[in-house]
Amino acid sequence: MDNKDTIWRRWSARLRQERVILLTATLVVLVVMMTDVSVFVAPLIWVSLVLAALARRPLVAIPNVVLDPAEEESPPVSHLNPVGAAFAALDTPVFVLGTDANVLFQNHAAERAFGRLPPGAHLTARLRSPGIVDMVRETIATDRPNQIEHSERLPSEQVYIVRIAPAEFGQDDPATEKLYILSFRDISELRRLDRMRSDFVANASHELRTPLASLRGFIETIQGPAKNDPKAQERFLGIMLDQATRMSRLVDDLLSLSRLELKSHIAPDQRVDLVPLIGHVRDSLLPLADDLGVEIHVHKPEGAVEVMGDRDELVQVFENLIENACKYGQEGKAVDVHIRNEPGESVEVSVIDRGPGIPAEHVPRLTERFYRVSVADSRSKKGTGLGLAIVKHILTRHRARMVVKSEIGVGTEFTVRF
Ligand code: ADP
Repeated sequence: MDNKDTIWRRWSARLRQERVILLTATLVVLVVMMTDVSVFVAPLIWVSLVLAALARRPLVAIPNVVLDPAEEESPPVSHLNPVGAAFAALDTPVFVLGTDANVLFQNHAAERAFGRLPPGAHLTARLRSPGIVDMVRETIATDRPNQIEHSERLPSEQVYIVRIAPAEFGQDDPATEKLYILSFRDISELRRLDRMRSDFVANASHELRTPLASLRGFIETIQGPAKNDPKAQERFLGIMLDQATRMSRLVDDLLSLSRLELKSHIAPDQRVDLVPLIGHVRDSLLPLADDLGVEIHVHKPEGAVEVMGDRDELVQVFENLIENACKYGQEGKAVDVHIRNEPGESVEVSVIDRGPGIPAEHVPRLTERFYRVSVADSRSKKGTGLGLAIVKHILTRHRARMVVKSEIGVGTEFTVRF
């Protein structure tokens, strides 16, 4: 049954393909019938013309590559055309080119990245980059593979390794046209990570260099001009202790970040009750809050509020958020922490201060490493610029989200949703 179907589909496709010749043959026969020729000759001419048309070889045989999968009505692509089906399934943009750099096939990924090309159109109808065009021309001329790096600016910045190589299908068949496979490997994410890594190293060394330079300066002063000045020495030693503490805070935060990166893909598996955990964080921050003149109020529901988590990491999250609220929202004099556990809804913890608020343009960048609204303000409050980056990493591992709402002159609310 399947076989009969397949044969019928192939023949009907073939008839459609040769429709121009068949129509012409019918017209010729009609004209012949109008003349005095015997009634048997006309159908004979028609049948021979039709057979000749169907027996004709297609001009270009493209082995197992679907020219236009959308128009293909015949049996599933994967069954009849394994090569075309394989390309169609790839998520990397791929074009199959003929010897004139005309596009014989493009897969869905190529359609998404560069738009759809009518089959047979020249590659330059979509890709006009001189680098790609020259590379394609050279490979077609020399039959040697080539690759270049290519960036697209619109709709967003994308960097690709573009490679072209001759394909070795049906070499033994002289009627088979030579084909070239043009593929695009997206390396935008790799480039972005590279840039982030080098920015991070630059920032970390800059942050460490400042206190180090200051330490060196004071040591030199104590060894030189302040050699016999115990009062100055005592003052300088105090500053040196501050700088050394700043450096060790920074190194601790950097170590925390790299440890978190190592286990970011392992979801935590303990059950943690947030009520006593946040109570403990509040108690540990009381001395700082007292120094700043801020009161911390915790609003909690009845009973336990459990989430899947890592206790120490969750302590770090709420310590960072509540400490920031006390430091940056000091002028509001109060910080409210709400623990919510409504039935059918996610567990939420909000930390609300009544400080000066954060200008909207800074909010999306707060969790970037070393990003600070005001560097001087953060330094004077013993900040490293890594606190919220650590919070974000921990929450990602916990599959939790953080939402920041802030209004200038009213205050800021950091909400963690589990
Ligand atoms: P830092 O070590 O500087 O505190 P964080 O990553 O914890 O670093 O915070 C980044 C920046 O976000 C801070 O420098 C500060 O400018 C801003 N910020 C964080 N929390 C608040 C808040 N509650 N109110 C106002 N600004 C805040």
